[in-house]
Amino acid sequence: MTTAYIGIGSNLDQPLQQVQAAITALSQLPQSRLVAHSPWYGSTAIGPGQQADYVNGVAELDTRLSAHDLLDALQAIEQSQGRVRSERWGARTLDLDILLYGQQPMADTRLVVPHPRMLERPFVLQPLLALAPALVLPDGSYLRDRAAAAGTEGLWLLEHA
Ligand code: ATP
Ligand code: CA
Ligand code: CA
Repeated sequence: MTTAYIGIGSNLDQPLQQVQAAITALSQLPQSRLVAHSPWYGSTAIGPGQQADYVNGVAELDTRLSAHDLLDALQAIEQSQGRVRSERWGARTLDLDILLYGQQPMADTRLVVPHPRMLERPFVLQPLLALAPALVLPDGSYLRDRAAAAGTEGLWLLEHA
């Protein structure tokens, strides 16, 4: 069993409903158990042009799926929630990223873990910290230090979510 952390984001078609539907889908993945998810946060979009704000969160999943099988399953959930891939970092109904897969780093043409841009993203680090405050990253650094370094600019906690 491996503990994986999944980054969740949406900024199209009722984002809060999209991320909540994603939690339901994650809870139904084979050979896996959804352990918990973070509170939901709002964030200012970082992609190209004017984009709606995002809803972001992180889920913790215990899984026996390989990292690549997990990525396949996450992309199937994105598809089932109407994700259309157009320009890089464009608006989307649902984005599911593998942030961490246990303590195993990996890198090939399809999958890089830890997610290569997570350390610079408050909308990843703050929900991850809320979920796993004592987490040590594969490089030996402490999540709380990384989260403090990235700060909270452009990020807010959504209440009643
Ligand atoms: P970013 O990766 O900067 O968050 P994005 O999520 O918008 O951008 P996508 O268009 O969703 O990028 O994904 C592009 C490709 O990234 C996917 O097809 C997948 O093969 C690859 N990828 C590499 N590493 C990961 C990972 N850790 N989790 C999810 N996808 C990954
Ligand atoms: Ca992403
Ligand atoms: Ca993605």
